[in-house]
Amino acid sequence: MKKLALHWQILLGMVLGVGFGVLASSQGWGDFVGDWIKPFGTIFINSLKLIAVPLIVASLIKGITDLQDISKLSNMGVRTIGLYILTTIIAIVIGLGIVNIVGPGRGLDQTTRDNLLNDFAADAGARITDASAQASAGPLQALVDLVPENIVAAAGNNGNMLQVIFFVIFFAVGLILIDPVKAKPVKDFFDGVNEVVLKLIDLIMLAAPFGVFALLAALVVEAPSKDLFFALLKYSACVLGGLGIMVFIVYPMMVRVFTGRSYGSFMSGISPAQLLAFSTSSSAATLPVTMERVEEHLGVDEEVTSFVLPIGATINMDGTSLYQAVAAVFIAQAYGMQLDLGDQLTIITTALAASIGSAAVPGAGMVMLVIVLGQVGIPEVGLALIFAVDRPLDMCRTVANVTGDATVAMLVGKSVGKLREPKERKLDDYYVEV
Ligand code: ASP
Repeated sequence: MKKLALHWQILLGMVLGVGFGVLASSQGWGDFVGDWIKPFGTIFINSLKLIAVPLIVASLIKGITDLQDISKLSNMGVRTIGLYILTTIIAIVIGLGIVNIVGPGRGLDQTTRDNLLNDFAADAGARITDASAQASAGPLQALVDLVPENIVAAAGNNGNMLQVIFFVIFFAVGLILIDPVKAKPVKDFFDGVNEVVLKLIDLIMLAAPFGVFALLAALVVEAPSKDLFFALLKYSACVLGGLGIMVFIVYPMMVRVFTGRSYGSFMSGISPAQLLAFSTSSSAATLPVTMERVEEHLGVDEEVTSFVLPIGATINMDGTSLYQAVAAVFIAQAYGMQLDLGDQLTIITTALAASIGSAAVPGAGMVMLVIVLGQVGIPEVGLALIFAVDRPLDMCRTVANVTGDATVAMLVGKSVGKLREPKERKLDDYYVEV
């Protein structure tokens, strides 16, 4: 019996899913796919998201209480946040560099522009209303939003992960500060929950190849026409080029320079998480797998991953910020606007903030783009221009988001002496019999 490692299974699911989607489109089986295939993809994503809140809660509490003292926590916290901001700024600067040099919006012909605007104006309008509410608040609103008034609501439907993280860190700090005898049962309870959650993830991942098959088949069937894609090819190429530089050059190089780990071992260690990020377009849904890969296959201690990764999945979105920078400049170019250095700097700061504020779910980066556009005075309805290609770009920027989180986890792990040689990969990979 031969066995197939998880990333090959997922890749196979993806390829077959795309193939089946193409076949279904050509045969007019769109309704069949929507009714009978897509729901399995939705169930798969939902089950991963279902695990995300318990995972974040249990792993953050475990991670912080394992540190045992507040100074260690603040030490790791400062490094983590510092590196997250650094990688995000690198991503934005790369995006801005590419889009300014290539100028994808400068050549966009007027008819295409007007068609895109007309076709997608209604959808864009809905997004703009969503985001404007957030943008119109005062300068300290983000800080106010961090502190939930009700933790159940924060973790509830369409929950706010930043609020959950705030509460959990606060709770864990309290747990470190109380009498250790009293703290022990609470800590043991969350340790147990953590184990259960990890086991559930193993179970869910057995369905991953089928889940990604269903997701991609449905996506291909629902994809907008190819003509639109070609009109936006230059813009898409700028985003993809920037993301490619981050994923294939910047991150592996940072890992190599700061941890000495080879290109191949980093990329193969993280690849199942990347494939899942691509298929689900959600850093939150991918988080369980990112954590497993970074711990087991890249050798970062659980003490680090359980703190760095849940926070990273929520606030560190390098791919999203790069995309927002490219999209903002593209839309400005399409409207014939000149952006000076001050505008570009505004894009850097607002894309940084907007990516932190973006939820780790499909399409969130586009909603927050409205805020970037608003700050620089670019017409918000221009969002309609890039609507058609948002989903494929979302899939790719989520890959960068997840890879960035893994990179920072390795760097933080190294800097606090918690990076070991990874286990032999073959031993604990997921297998299926073929
Ligand atoms: N889908 C992205 C993520 O989950 C966020 C976005 O850029 O829309 O990381």
